[in-house]
Amino acid sequence: MKLINDIWFKRRDIISDGFRESLKYISKIIPLKIHKIPTGAKCWTWIIPDKWTVKNAYIEDLDGNKLLDLKNHPLHIVSYSLPVDKIVSKEELFKHLHTSKERPNAIPFEFKYYQRDWGFCIQHSKLKEFTKDEYKVFIDSKFEKGNLEVGECIIKGKTDKTIVLVAHLCHPAQVNDDLTGVTVLVALAKEMQKTLRHPSARLRTRAQGKKNYYTYKFLFVPETIGSVAYLSKNEDIIPKFKYGVFLEMLGNDNIHALQLSRQGDTRIDRIARYVMERKLKNFREGPFRTIVANDEVAFNGPGVNIPMISISRYPYPEYHTSDDNPDIISEQRLEQSKNLILEILNIIDNDYTPKRRFKGPIFLSSYDLWVDWRENLKLNQNIEKIILNLEGDKTVFDIAEELNMEFDDVLDFINKLKKDKLIKKYEQ
Ligand SMILES: [Zn+2]
Repeated sequence: MKLINDIWFKRRDIISDGFRESLKYISKIIPLKIHKIPTGAKCWTWIIPDKWTVKNAYIEDLDGNKLLDLKNHPLHIVSYSLPVDKIVSKEELFKHLHTSKERPNAIPFEFKYYQRDWGFCIQHSKLKEFTKDEYKVFIDSKFEKGNLEVGECIIKGKTDKTIVLVAHLCHPAQVNDDLTGVTVLVALAKEMQKTLRHPSARLRTRAQGKKNYYTYKFLFVPETIGSVAYLSKNEDIIPKFKYGVFLEMLGNDNIHALQLSRQGDTRIDRIARYVMERKLKNFREGPFRTIVANDEVAFNGPGVNIPMISISRYPYPEYHTSDDNPDIISEQRLEQSKNLILEILNIIDNDYTPKRRFKGPIFLSSYDLWVDWRENLKLNQNIEKIILNLEGDKTVFDIAEELNMEFDDVLDFINKLKKDKLIKKYEQ
């Protein structure tokens, strides 16, 4: 909540001082490498736009009465508006005014990054105040050369196989979309730096000091263009990205929504579903691009194909308006989402393929592998089934999923077999 309260009201337009300052703020919490891609650079089929700054903007009647003033709220202007200073008819003005009929007292968020136009956003309920025939419109904005910036935090693993976690940071003066994704990402990076492997408490104690298997990359981008720019300028690392997670809208009061990757049935899809089924009372699930559209379009897009799931609590009624403010967020919900993602990463990072080295049934008591049914009934009942699944064609997670068991229980048991040299461990 501190991060949210400190930077939520900034103008974090895609290439702007506010975006840069926000990345700088985050770099004081976790180490960030800042990638800079200059204005005009060609990134696959996209061109990096100019940096945009706005100092002042207002609408007033010809008697000098202000009907709208940017000083009151950053959302009062369409992001990337052209500068204007002229008298326009009411009819002309209304073509450039954006409101939300569904939320008449909120200011909608509008942007036109790639078309040159100007516009204002205002509460629908205020339209009735426009009673005159002519108005002065004034926008003091500036387009100039700059750099698109992407913040990157890396936690190195035993391998350079990478899991990439992405949030966008470019929605001025809004919180749930997109600062909650950013906040959870920062919290994850901070926590995983400390504990490295095994975010779950039980496993952490055992494996402290061991390195995580995957390398983790946390990316903070301006939506879509930031992901396209980053990927197009780092094409050589794309093959190392095995899975991705996109995060946003995690603080509002709604159930979690899991949007599957474009592939739909990869390990991360299945693990995310498995964790949500176990940890949440209720959640919903949908195929790629059926819940909400974000940077997975780039990461899981044509020629890139990194399976990227998205986790949010979409929809919510305050979406893309000035009502998306800290009041609709709860820290408890952010914490719940963070723990959910840690658990998904815990499973994917600890998973491996066990291969049998024994023949016949295992003499459980002599290896101290017998499990008292009074202590763990499910494990007691399933030991035989686990033992029958160690032929090297299934991972620990596959077995847990198939037997509907807790991953940690199955992992604990199979790790004991490994210690006794009854199985060999292969990478996933
Ligand atoms: Zn958005």
